[in-house]
Amino acid sequence: MCEKQHELLIFGKNWTTVIDVPRKISNFAPALSNTSVKIQQVLNALEQFAPLPLQESWDNAGLQIGLTETEVSGALLCLDVTEKVIDEAIAKGCNLVVSHHPLLFRGLKQVSDANDVQRTVRKAIKNDICVISMHTNMDNAKGGVNYKIAEKLGAVPAGEPQAPHTAPSANTVLSGSPAEKIPFVLAELPDAMDSRAFIALVKERFGVKCAHCNKLIHRPIRKVAICGGAGDFMLDEAIAKGADAFITGEMHYHVFFGHEQEIQICVIGHYESEQFTSEIFQEIIQKECPGVRCFIAETMTNPICYY
Ligand SMILES: [Zn+2]
Repeated sequence: MCEKQHELLIFGKNWTTVIDVPRKISNFAPALSNTSVKIQQVLNALEQFAPLPLQESWDNAGLQIGLTETEVSGALLCLDVTEKVIDEAIAKGCNLVVSHHPLLFRGLKQVSDANDVQRTVRKAIKNDICVISMHTNMDNAKGGVNYKIAEKLGAVPAGEPQAPHTAPSANTVLSGSPAEKIPFVLAELPDAMDSRAFIALVKERFGVKCAHCNKLIHRPIRKVAICGGAGDFMLDEAIAKGADAFITGEMHYHVFFGHEQEIQICVIGHYESEQFTSEIFQEIIQKECPGVRCFIAETMTNPICYY
């Protein structure tokens, strides 16, 4: 099925300018998962890995939409939930969408068709699709977003997790034992490399067309601090921990100042830095809820284009 046909058959019309890169949805299997797993069991597995108390106070991770006593027909795993992602879930026969970024973040005062979020909510509800988001709890969890970035880089998290902003009052996992917030990880590359080779490696591994960096650092890079998404708040901590380089998704202009030859800053884009988070969801679900069909979403949701 070509992309044009797919658009006509599945999407029907252009709803939004947010996503302007239609992708082909490959052969989907409408058959139900070979399991009687309920959505609640998937939610439990995800929260066991990344307990909700690990999320930041301003966040809204967890169940967003839907009823959790329904059996899972399939899970579509993504970074952002948009109308086209819901369309993809429908096309693939999935009644569960698991995202990193919450669909409901600032709250809704109406549910009409006034904006993309409201239309997405309406479409999910109308099609009995449950939406779960694992956001800063997954950022802060051991084995979470930053560990996946390290894995993609071929770097090994070094020593004990870094936890400079632990909030003990909020940290209790489901089992009752304390959980630790890990807002960034320090990881070691297998071999030291110069800054030009390091930046080239990062760009290649994350499909980055253009990285925002400070001047090339004149020392070998071995220890890398990683904070996916908007991570510039961790830069000083990364320097204090002796990192040679700092990878994040986005960073304010003024934060770049004053760090020449101190640390190699490498900003690769928010979407690019967190794009592999869906693989974590897949690994958790396949391990804890075997039999549930999982799909990494093919819909491109990055709203930022490079020209
Ligand atoms: Zn993010």
